[in-house]
Amino acid sequence: MKLYLDPGHGGSDPGALGNGLEEKDIVLDIALKIRSILLNDYENVEVKMSRTSDSTVSLSQRTNEANSWGADYFLSIHCNAFNGSAQGYEDYIHSSLSNSSTTAYYQDIIHSEVIEVNQLRDRGQKQANFHVLRETTMPALLTENGFIDNSHDAALMKDPAWRQRVAQGHVNGLAEAFTLKRKPEENSGAVYKVIAGSFKVKENADERSTYLETKGIESFVNTVIVSSETWYRVQAGAFSSRENAEKRLAEVNNAGIYDAYIATDDTNINQVETNVYSILGETLLSPELMNEYVKTINSDAIELGQYYLTFGAYYGIRGDIAFAQAMHETDFLRFTGVVDSSQNNFCGLGATGPDNPGASFATPEEGVLAHIQHLFAYATTQPLPEKYELVDPRFDLVSRGSASTWTQLNGKWAVPGDNYGQSILNLYERMIEAAIEKLNSVMGNIE
Ligand SMILES: [Zn+2]
Repeated sequence: MKLYLDPGHGGSDPGALGNGLEEKDIVLDIALKIRSILLNDYENVEVKMSRTSDSTVSLSQRTNEANSWGADYFLSIHCNAFNGSAQGYEDYIHSSLSNSSTTAYYQDIIHSEVIEVNQLRDRGQKQANFHVLRETTMPALLTENGFIDNSHDAALMKDPAWRQRVAQGHVNGLAEAFTLKRKPEENSGAVYKVIAGSFKVKENADERSTYLETKGIESFVNTVIVSSETWYRVQAGAFSSRENAEKRLAEVNNAGIYDAYIATDDTNINQVETNVYSILGETLLSPELMNEYVKTINSDAIELGQYYLTFGAYYGIRGDIAFAQAMHETDFLRFTGVVDSSQNNFCGLGATGPDNPGASFATPEEGVLAHIQHLFAYATTQPLPEKYELVDPRFDLVSRGSASTWTQLNGKWAVPGDNYGQSILNLYERMIEAAIEKLNSVMGNIE
């Protein structure tokens, strides 16, 4: 698949301005991040960019180059500006196209993937007669990633982790639309991570990451739990060869960061996390205890405990913690968020906002099955066992095996979701405490 990637504006044309930012810089950074994720993670993709630095390129230069290169897809990255109060994300295909066109189909996919991670208001999928959409001979999409003159959106644009997420959202959409193939993991999965600092306070980690960005080193903040303490690690690359990791470490040192190190102790760290917070594992609470707990808060709650036990046991998922997740997502089955009770969608699958309340399932049983299948997708790279049909509509969108613990769902199942996993586990602990209290009172009666 040949992608022509077009960061808007550049050089003498700054694009939209606001809050001390210039559109040309933001969109270049997002586009470079898109390219690096695509080339690192996928094998059947080629990327050509209209510019890779702050250079002036005309609109017809861009479309001519894409056409003569024979690109399969043209993706143009922009930010918006209006009156300071408008905010949000929208994307455009050419105004001559029908909703059943291939271009509209790609727009559907990429739109939903980007909006899932970008924390911006969803302004919808639109059409316009823009030069780059009109003069390209291949399907083309132009994304407007927030309003640079709006303080909410601009604050996000300033955050390199946000730009990384926006890039990842575009990549997720491209990967799905063009069925890109993931690269096999080299070296039997041994990974050398360059950790450019490890902090107890998230702000300090963010600050370090921003600093590295100014030195041209990309990084993101990873939350890890070591001996039940939360640490924020600034990860500046992960490599399958130690040599490459050491090269990056030298770059980080050259940038003036001397507390950086190469982490190869992931197995140990994961072990600690696994024991305490693993998604895979046995269900400890009985269905009755789960149902009783939710009824102490919402007496009208329907009984889902048995489904969480049955499907949890079949897929090897902690059904009781999944149940706690459902209570967290549905406000104890009171459905006070965007998902309605009639959807039987207990974990917010595909729900991104009032305009997009997400998936619906025929029965509560099927809704729980989809929830457990979605957790299975995150927790392991194993193929889905065959007893039940796949009912999770988003199973294939999950980066398989990317979260083995509940806290690793932060920023994935929920965005930004800094405390998403912790909230679930806190709720679960309250369920356990209630169960112990109940047990104690029963024991008291026996005595
Ligand atoms: Zn623009």
